[in-house]
Amino acid sequence: MSLAHLDPLARIGHWINNELDLGGSQRVAPVFDPAQGAQAREVILAEAADVARAVASSLKAFGEWSEWAPQRRARVLFKFKDLVDRHTKDLARLITLEHGKTLPDAAGEVQRGLEVIEFACGAPQLLKGQHSHGIGGGIDHWSQRMPLGVVAGITPFNFPFMVPMWMAPMALACGNAFILKPSERDPSASLLTAELLREAGLPPGVFNVVQGDKLAVDALLSHPDISAVSFVGSTPIARYIYETAAHHGKRAQALGGAKNHLIVMPDADLDQAADGLIGAAYGSAGERCMAISVAVVVGDVADELIERVKTRAAKLTIGSGLTENIDIGPLVTAAHRDRVAGYIETGVKEGASLLLDGRQGLPAQCGNGYFLGASLFDHVTPAMSIYQDEIFGPVLCVVRVPTFAAAVALINDHPFGNGVSLYTRDGGTAQAFVNRIKVGMVGVNVPIPVPMAWHSFGGWKQSLFGDHHAYGEEGVRFYTRYKSVMQRWPESIAKGPEFVMPVNQ
Ligand code: NAD
Repeated sequence: MSLAHLDPLARIGHWINNELDLGGSQRVAPVFDPAQGAQAREVILAEAADVARAVASSLKAFGEWSEWAPQRRARVLFKFKDLVDRHTKDLARLITLEHGKTLPDAAGEVQRGLEVIEFACGAPQLLKGQHSHGIGGGIDHWSQRMPLGVVAGITPFNFPFMVPMWMAPMALACGNAFILKPSERDPSASLLTAELLREAGLPPGVFNVVQGDKLAVDALLSHPDISAVSFVGSTPIARYIYETAAHHGKRAQALGGAKNHLIVMPDADLDQAADGLIGAAYGSAGERCMAISVAVVVGDVADELIERVKTRAAKLTIGSGLTENIDIGPLVTAAHRDRVAGYIETGVKEGASLLLDGRQGLPAQCGNGYFLGASLFDHVTPAMSIYQDEIFGPVLCVVRVPTFAAAVALINDHPFGNGVSLYTRDGGTAQAFVNRIKVGMVGVNVPIPVPMAWHSFGGWKQSLFGDHHAYGEEGVRFYTRYKSVMQRWPESIAKGPEFVMPVNQ
């Protein structure tokens, strides 16, 4: 394993036919070290010709790969799983260097991606069809799941390894060739992933990477040889991807943004609720689609809960994700840090009470890095933009409501429906919550209910456009198409043509 592309001076290129590929594009984008607040290297941005080259390579590879027996494909994934396991530290370090999250958090991301690879190793079982013997007239009838062809994945900056792993292992297990267009903000993990797949024995072209921006995405969306597109990112782009892919006749699943709420009932253990809120709101600097950004406090426990949250939040440690014992790393870019800081300003102007201001009091070692500490707003109302919009930073808003019913109505009215949580000791409240809440992923006394690999991940409302959630059995359905087959042998065919709909008496 060369890891040559990790050279800090290197330009980050594409990966086509199991080789690094620098293409012909003159366009580049800076890749930053967010903890230092400086550009670290640059990534090449593909032209349409680079995308076309990747698609041609994948289409060629698809033919043979799709004919490999599922267990042979699974063996490659088994090796890949082992390599990812052994390179967890390398992957985590790359993620931390470009994204900023802490090393333990990055290692956790690798682990959750690895679990999808594990699930995809069950390809032979997952792809088993259904058989009906002797449905009449000597006919056997069965269904089988066939690969789609060349499929593309377009992924966000906040999980540069895990989100591609929601897609690629599933697509490959099902017999497709896969093209990844990672985020241009932290592209290096994609190349190490590709290198590990090559090492695992994946044939050239089955997994290609195209670095780029909107131009590359548009080239994928309009390319006639791309059969399906998986997307994870912000809601406006998710809607665009879904509509454009459909316009070009492609299957699409597009997971979008979020504004996740956590309800605290008066009977909840307030220490547990405060701990849950702290990790879920401020972990990974709030740059998680399953981060909790709104605490909905029911009844008269708000003051007590807020005191607990504020005390804990004020003690969080801020610094480079490479340093030990850090709770909050930097945000991904200066532009994103400024956008989040802008929302703190807006919240004050909108009349919310700012109890903790993450713009203030940063430790000296933060230097020029793109840091913000934890911010906490109380008395937030549904009309405020800090309540409506996804801020995607370490900012927690508290909304006070009188009743459980008001909490449920508030959440069901919000345009996003990704994740949600409830803290209570009451079984009846928990049951009513699970049944009534209009959100895709639900936790009871679990702050971040990210589904395991053998379930499926996805939100409702504007958090997901499309019919399928990611990975698990939903992933198998998305990356295959259904074929129904009826077969009999000449000896059992009745003599002469049949003119009426065949029925069995
Ligand atoms: P983003 O939407 O800006 O970018 C996602 C991808 O789309 C990137 O690969 C990017 O290059 C591409 N892209 C950006 N602008 C484009 C355009 N105009 N046309 C075509 N392609 C474009 O998202 P991000 O900032 O990288 O990631 C953060 C967002 O992702 C948040 O909204 C977060 O909630 C969301 N997210 C959602 C989930 C989920 O499962 N629902 C998971 C992770 C992240």
